[in-house]
Amino acid sequence: MARYTGASCRICRRQGEKLYLKGIRCYTDKCAFDRRSYAPGQHGKGRRVKVSNYGLQLREKQKVKRMYGILERQFRKYFSIASLSKGVTGKKLLELLERRLDNVVFRACFSVSRANARQMVRHGNVFVNGRKVNIPSYSVKSGDTVYTRPKDNIISGVKETIEKVKDRGVPGWLNVDTSALKIIVTKLPERSDVGMDIKEHLIVELYSK
Ligand code: SF4
Repeated sequence: MARYTGASCRICRRQGEKLYLKGIRCYTDKCAFDRRSYAPGQHGKGRRVKVSNYGLQLREKQKVKRMYGILERQFRKYFSIASLSKGVTGKKLLELLERRLDNVVFRACFSVSRANARQMVRHGNVFVNGRKVNIPSYSVKSGDTVYTRPKDNIISGVKETIEKVKDRGVPGWLNVDTSALKIIVTKLPERSDVGMDIKEHLIVELYSK
């Protein structure tokens, strides 16, 4: 699947909030949003627009899409699956997104950002249940074991990353062994495990028009 290759900080500035797309840089004073917290572009600073209902729904959808690093077509697919499954569509959507392999690597603190986790997966440095999986959208199941390629430079790189980002914490549905660099998916994530300020009902309203 394709991915967005433009400027990440531009997305935060357009969104009007920090989405932490760049990892460690986001927590430093180099963060572009902290420096220029207005919309990008020539008229970004001066323009004050009253946001419509549709605008709010659109922004929420764009936010979630960009946080997980996926494009419209794939996001729509997730939404269709969520709407066909039992339960509340918005919650199901977030639970499906949370199960992505690149997200699991990120949540376990093995990478600084989801973009970085995606690269690790694409480069064949992530294994699931003993098999190499290089598909970032791979959906993990309860009981899966995820680990990194047992190669010296990969191991030292991941250990270094864990040291840097360990304060981020690991969600309860993942059990992480930081010495063996192994992640066990103890249960499937629920909405409460996602733990981000997302108004998923706005996305459902947008797609239900
Ligand atoms: Fe967003 Fe700031 Fe991170 Fe750039 S550095 S991606 S503006 S949070």
